[in-house]
Amino acid sequence: MGTVVETPVKEADATVTVKKPTVVFVLGKHFVLALSSVFVVILSGGPGSGKGTQCANIVEHFGYTHLSAGDLLRAEIKSGSENGTMIQNMIKEGKIVPSEVTIKLLQKAMEESGNDKFLIDGFPRNEENRAAFEAVTKIEPEFVLFFDCSEEEMERRILNRNQGREDDNVETIRKRFKVFLESSLPVVQYYEAKGKVRKIDAAKPVAEVFDAVKAVFTPKDEKAAA
Ligand code: UDP
Ligand code: MG
Repeated sequence: MGTVVETPVKEADATVTVKKPTVVFVLGKHFVLALSSVFVVILSGGPGSGKGTQCANIVEHFGYTHLSAGDLLRAEIKSGSENGTMIQNMIKEGKIVPSEVTIKLLQKAMEESGNDKFLIDGFPRNEENRAAFEAVTKIEPEFVLFFDCSEEEMERRILNRNQGREDDNVETIRKRFKVFLESSLPVVQYYEAKGKVRKIDAAKPVAEVFDAVKAVFTPKDEKAAA
């Protein structure tokens, strides 16, 4: 169910890769579109490491759709959904919301975007998130952009950004750091073992970090031509 393999078709001298068709499979009671033919980049890094800021730059330069799992969850709270209170309590505590909830929101946003290139920011946050996402969507990310930044610098940025977030206080920030180290870093290590992690020094000023980000997103042949 839902596993469609990319088929190389030989036409004269050229090998043409046929785009995988979108398939429909069942998740719970709903029919959802499988997104197995999309191009996904995961952004990982501690809270305040600059993922959201750099996503905006990547969207502008490279035409991706930005999906912030945290923003989708906050929008879900605002929408007055039945899960809202549960999500709000978990965010206040810096805890990870059940995979099923976050995955559904991500899938819906992907389907509604009309795009096939996505930056998934702040998800998967633990191994269970990762395994569930891969099992449900059949999506294997192209690479993981890892924002390497010290806790000291991240804490300073969060306390300065004043976005009015309920979880941007010292107490919750420390909990989020702990969850990041204990639960999210193992996901980075999983992808590292697959050779998929591109680590950048995220402690520098925004423009310098974006130079490093651009280098990761620019195809090698274009780099050689430049
Ligand atoms: N969160 C979650 N699952 C996700 C993404 C976020 O449970 O996949 C919750 C979690 O409580 C987290 C909070 O939302 O601490 C804020 O996440 P966000 O990614 O917005 O924070 P950031 O790391 O960007 O500061
Ligand atoms: Mg963020």
